[in-house]
Amino acid sequence: MSHTPVLIVGAGPTGLMLACQLARHGVEFRIVDGKAGPTRESRALGVQARTLELFDAMGIAAEAVTQGRATFAGNIYVGRRRVQRIPLGDIGQAVTPFPYLLILEQSRNEALLYQTLRAAGRDVEWQTSLADLRNEDATGAVATLRHADGRSETLHCDWLVGCDGARSPVREQLGLPFSGGTYENAFYVADTRVDWALPHGELTVCLSSETFVVFFPMPGEQRYRVIGTLPRDAGGDAPVLRFEDIEAAVRAQMDIEVRFGETAWFSSYRVHHRCVERLRAGHCFVAGDAAHVHSPVGAQGMNTGLQDVCNLAWKLALVVQGCARDDLLDSYHAERWPVAQQLLKTTDSAFQFIISPNPLVRAFRLHVFPRIAARVMARPAVRKRLFRVISQTGFITETAACRKARASRRRLRR
Ligand SMILES: Cc1cc2nc3c(=O)[nH]c(=O)nc-3n(C[C@H](O)[C@H](O)[C@H](O)COP(=O)(O)OP(=O)(O)OC[C@H]3O[C@@H](n4cnc5c(N)ncnc54)[C@H](O)[C@@H]3O)c2cc1C
Repeated sequence: MSHTPVLIVGAGPTGLMLACQLARHGVEFRIVDGKAGPTRESRALGVQARTLELFDAMGIAAEAVTQGRATFAGNIYVGRRRVQRIPLGDIGQAVTPFPYLLILEQSRNEALLYQTLRAAGRDVEWQTSLADLRNEDATGAVATLRHADGRSETLHCDWLVGCDGARSPVREQLGLPFSGGTYENAFYVADTRVDWALPHGELTVCLSSETFVVFFPMPGEQRYRVIGTLPRDAGGDAPVLRFEDIEAAVRAQMDIEVRFGETAWFSSYRVHHRCVERLRAGHCFVAGDAAHVHSPVGAQGMNTGLQDVCNLAWKLALVVQGCARDDLLDSYHAERWPVAQQLLKTTDSAFQFIISPNPLVRAFRLHVFPRIAARVMARPAVRKRLFRVISQTGFITETAACRKARASRRRLRR
């Protein structure tokens, strides 16, 4: 039986970030993924300020900012009227060196992290899947890996981290319940060209009587990520749905005149809101989508996974290197689980609010909300708090165990 101190299952953004962090701290590990290489799909695209602060510590923030597009303001339209403008740049200046939302597709984030990992002399074992897992509380976990050539390998790992996405085989094999639900509405995402009379380059949320459409400005002229709920009966009998099939229905959902151009990427999917009850089971952990999934409305998903593993990595490094007791690792759950819960609650409430067909909620959304929002958002303290929540800079918590381990952590930094 082979052995590794740490096995990372999954090399999406969460697994790649964990690998980069462990490499930085000089920890031996293996990272496997069933795919042939990093994703080429655009997928998640909002990089929040807290993630950029972490990228900065790794020396890759400048490259991320060069490749992406910074969005300094968000606008909310109800019908044809702009009811709110949120100047992220002004509000966030006192909070972070990155007072904006960076738009950088998941594929490019993964490429950046993968480059960083390879520059540290480490690599992912692609086309290698976890086939079976036994969590042996006293000594670690025993994983069965299936390699590309069909070979099977039994691997003893002192620690195992499941960064293996929403369907997480690790979570399944550990028997961790993933409670929550699935939204009735299906989402679509389209990276496309937008023509309209509104100013370009800012985040735009359009609320109508029925639903919402969000536009994230992407790198390139008049390029946007458009997200919304799939119009009912959209696409008719199309065997493979394309954005062209639903364009007319999307335009009909909005009160603002818009024309769409060529579409680079389109996908539709159902969204779940679920979370595990524990992030740790003996010598195994789950992180990222394997631990929590929620609606993409606040552009939080990928960021939360990246921050989960930054929290876990330095603690694992101290434990693996014999500088801390393994109960330090309990603070991963204590610090990150409440963040996942809060995110689930806020993204769920926001989503229910903008989608609810209830006539009272709808009337509130269209007629009362704009006035309340204008009054509340005029207060600097409220704006700052909102920025901290959205940018995830307000989520940094530390348990007493972590404060005690801080001195050892400083020794880790190289
Ligand atoms: C179509 C689509 C659009 C999205 N749009 C948005 C968006 O606009 N905004 C947003 O915030 N989020 C969005 N998301 C969600 C976002 O992509 C996820 O939050 C993010 O990818 C989570 O990263 P992760 O690394 O935790 O999991 P994943 O990216 O799912 O990575 C998991 C990895 O584990 C690997 N794996 C799985 N099982 C095994 C196994 N048995 N053995 C080895 N490897 C395994 C997989 O191959 C994969 O590479 C979208 C997702 C999809 C599918």
